Amino acid sequence: MSDPSFSLDQLRIVLIGTSHPGNIGATCRAMKNMGLSDLALVAPRCEVQTSDSISRASGADALLAGAVQHTTLEAAVADATLVVGASARSRTLPWPMITPRQLGESLPAELAGRQARVALVFGREDTGLTNAELQHCHRHVHIPTDAEFSSLNLAAAVQVVAYECRLAWLAGAEHSRSDAAPFGIDWDNPPAEHADLERYFAHLERVLIAIGFHDPEKPRQLMARLRRLYLRARPDTLEVNILRGILSAIEKRTGGR
Ligand code: SAH
Repeated sequence: MSDPSFSLDQLRIVLIGTSHPGNIGATCRAMKNMGLSDLALVAPRCEVQTSDSISRASGADALLAGAVQHTTLEAAVADATLVVGASARSRTLPWPMITPRQLGESLPAELAGRQARVALVFGREDTGLTNAELQHCHRHVHIPTDAEFSSLNLAAAVQVVAYECRLAWLAGAEHSRSDAAPFGIDWDNPPAEHADLERYFAHLERVLIAIGFHDPEKPRQLMARLRRLYLRARPDTLEVNILRGILSAIEKRTGGR
């Protein structure tokens, strides 16, 4: 095997609103099989440490015990430089969509910087991810299932996605020149973290309301479309600073904050 071009520790699995402890345990087992260890739970709707979750973890109990709980998705992915939402079906607003294989192939370039983190977000057993949660993601990953029966068990979905990540990791340096991600080793600035982008979106919305461009009473998916635009562009830290500087200059001119 050639030298791995990234570390599996740079990958985080995020489960939102899980309702069955067994699925959390089975996710821990799937992750440990694939060499992943960073698990975040956002507002689980069940107890995490139960006889069911421990038995389904079948030996991955340390991972279960080490799962970090958050109340919001924002907190769970604040430091992530790429957020990918796993979705069983397409939504009203189309979003950049990749397969687990394409996700794996993009990892060497995405994770070239040591600070880079990829968060893989999975939804509720009954209702999946909300539109708002999906709109926090740069990309959506869809496991190409039969259209008539598209939804996998939660831990099974984690298994498939984690397996492709592991294959890419095993392939090592072979893919390190992938063009699939914008931030290779030669890029001049680090990718923006999710929290920087969220601050930008909040600032942008304030300014668009202040200048009368955006009416929150008649949103017409404006913010969702702008999120999609900026998330697709993958701004780096310097670019986000420039964008925020522009907003501050507008506020200064228009007498805002
Ligand atoms: N009934 C839900 C699906 C829930 S399955 C719905 O219609 O959205 C629980 C989670 O597993 C999903 O939120 C998603 O993150 C993941 N998942 C299930 N099937 C998937 C698929 N085919 N591709 C990608 N993710 C999938």
